[in-house]
Amino acid sequence: MSDSLKAQSAVLLDLKRLDEQSQRFKVGLRQLPDDIAQVEAKQKELEDNFAAARAAVAEAEKKLRQAEQDLKSKEDEMFKAEGKMMDVKTNEEYAAAMRENENRKAAKGLLEEKTLALMDDLEEQRQLLASLEKEHVTEKARLQAEKKHLLEQSAVLKVDVDASNAIRDGFAAKLDPKLQALYRKVTIDIDSIAIAYATAGACVGCHMKLRPQIYNETVGYVAIHQCGSCRRILIPPPTATSASTENVAASTQAD
Ligand SMILES: [Zn+2]
Repeated sequence: MSDSLKAQSAVLLDLKRLDEQSQRFKVGLRQLPDDIAQVEAKQKELEDNFAAARAAVAEAEKKLRQAEQDLKSKEDEMFKAEGKMMDVKTNEEYAAAMRENENRKAAKGLLEEKTLALMDDLEEQRQLLASLEKEHVTEKARLQAEKKHLLEQSAVLKVDVDASNAIRDGFAAKLDPKLQALYRKVTIDIDSIAIAYATAGACVGCHMKLRPQIYNETVGYVAIHQCGSCRRILIPPPTATSASTENVAASTQAD
């Protein structure tokens, strides 16, 4: 057993923990744009629904105004027709004028019904808009707060990732130059955590069995090896006696 290898393994253990923490920040950071997009989609839906309700009220108002105008025209028409009744000379003309009058009355009745129905409709649309307006205000505020929170979270996570990377670089500097170079290379190559535990004859990183010699030398602190299949740098799992070089949790508590 080599003490220097044991010390190097302890540094690798710290690096593994830091990388895992950093990975969690990165996963959170990757998820955030989707979460923000979801909130933005809800915001758009809310605005669209509200705009549609307002358009429905405007449309109902327009229809009602038209119906009121039609009714007014019909009333004017009837008023004029009544004036002309005075000029009829024959019984036939009188009968014809009376028939026209009846027709106009019937048409006026229909227009009155239509106007009343449109008034009811407009009232209904206005009530709907009023209730939606209340919901719109609270929901809009809620979504704005949700988005603000997500953006803040994103900023915090970015700082966390940077801080975590800075601490990691400090730890990596404690490795032998060759091991340090290997650690950086594997980190880039596999774009994941470069260090894995070797337990029960296997690599925990990829769950593949290790050659007995590789395994025994790793857990016996005889040599530092890479997993033959996932290329991760292997270290023995932490035990009560294999304390890390420094308290990683304490050094990153600032975030
Ligand atoms: Zn592996």
